[in-house]
Amino acid sequence: MRKCIGFFGGTFDPIHLGHLRLALELKQQLQFDEMSLVPCYIPPHRASPDVSAQQRLAMLQLALADCAELRWDARELQREKPSYTYDTLSELRAELGAEASICWCMGMDSFVGLETWHRWQELLGLAHLVVVARPGWELPVSGVFAEWVAQHSVVSDDAVGAIHSSPAGHVVILQPRLLPISATEIRAHIGAGVSPQFLVPDAVLNYIRAEGLYR
Ligand code: ATP
Repeated sequence: MRKCIGFFGGTFDPIHLGHLRLALELKQQLQFDEMSLVPCYIPPHRASPDVSAQQRLAMLQLALADCAELRWDARELQREKPSYTYDTLSELRAELGAEASICWCMGMDSFVGLETWHRWQELLGLAHLVVVARPGWELPVSGVFAEWVAQHSVVSDDAVGAIHSSPAGHVVILQPRLLPISATEIRAHIGAGVSPQFLVPDAVLNYIRAEGLYR
């Protein structure tokens, strides 16, 4: 059977239980053989002050240490400049071969800006796009982007069949359960001296405390 591999990109500043639970549920629901979280490089002027790419990666690694079902992939950090998703997917396609199904997962907050991405209309030549609905973010109903989405999207009941029967080319929009947690809220809590315990894995919280992050 065709191998089906999911990738979930984000800043993960810091990784929290909302990201982790969603990644696991996507893997289970879409029957991915593997699922990796892919932290993106953030230009230093946009990053949280005093939190390096290596520290974001260290938190991701700690979060996944006890989870055999999820992996991390640091390729975008290693390039040390912002990566185009097109380039990341081209690299993955070259590594995984023409037959593997590649599913790039993202929240609706990212997807609504897709039209501004480098070579966005070519992304579906490399992968499927799995989009997670998020409260407050709606797909546009008209225009080039709306038409493109309508042309390529499959209804969620057919999602598993669609992504397992071809290596790339579909947009799948899902409405999974989302834990109402955001990294912004966690950073604000810590900045205000309020504990974010139970929003992030304990190992991540211990690391944040030991390194004095987000204060
Ligand atoms: P911030 O608050 O700093 O914007 P975030 O947690 O929303 O952080 P990212 O770290 O970039 O943002 O998130 C990576 C991906 O995870 C995005 O596609 C986003 O839509 C999704 N995401 C963020 N929070 C949740 C959540 N609670 N549940 C599910 N998905 C989430």
